[in-house]
Amino acid sequence: MRTLAELDQAVTECRACPRLVAWREETARVKRAAFRDQDYWARPVPGFGPADAALAIVGLAPAAHGANRTGRMFTGDRSGDVLYAALHAVGLASQPTATHIGDGLELYGTRITAPVKCAPPENKPTPEERDNCRPWLERELALLRPTLRAVVVLGAFGWQALLPILATAWSVPRPRPRFGHGVRHDLPALDGGPPLAVHGCYHVSQRNTSTGLLTLDMVCDVLAAAATPLGIRR
Ligand code: SF4
Repeated sequence: MRTLAELDQAVTECRACPRLVAWREETARVKRAAFRDQDYWARPVPGFGPADAALAIVGLAPAAHGANRTGRMFTGDRSGDVLYAALHAVGLASQPTATHIGDGLELYGTRITAPVKCAPPENKPTPEERDNCRPWLERELALLRPTLRAVVVLGAFGWQALLPILATAWSVPRPRPRFGHGVRHDLPALDGGPPLAVHGCYHVSQRNTSTGLLTLDMVCDVLAAAATPLGIRR
């Protein structure tokens, strides 16, 4: 796959994880009452955002009734309500809401993706499922690399999944940097190319936002810290 468009198309056909294939399709069959009139996407969810993004946002996995329903990352669920409101507030998204493909939402210089592309039961992929999905994210980041200068990682799962992938192109210290909200690590490129700034942010999950562990302002602060040096805010 030589382009992100090809990659995005190919990933939607993946059936490498039997448990997740069964779950994504079962969720689409049973549905949530509020969405019973809708056809769920029920397939792997590709990354969302331009192919020349300078900033990547790496989450965990699609939500069963969010991206697994709408087919777009963080679209149609409470986590996305917070993330897109923050992206819009700092000038990285054209609108503060994300409801469905075709809602007009556009990201500026930013691509949202995840280390696991299928919705897992209880939002908990197994280590085997994470490893199965790793080549998709590896390829995605390799295709983004000419323009990619910063990553915001949402939560410890994404952090742990991402660092080994980054280590193929950037120098990751040993022991590996620990995840934390607001942390930043600058990774030199192994080939002498541009470095990569890796920022940690608590996941925008409903659990974190409803308990006040994470506020909209906190998300905005991390996004602004990552995006401002890149000159991609509008
Ligand atoms: S989680 Fe990844 S590897 Fe597993 S079926 Fe979905 S797209 Fe394929």
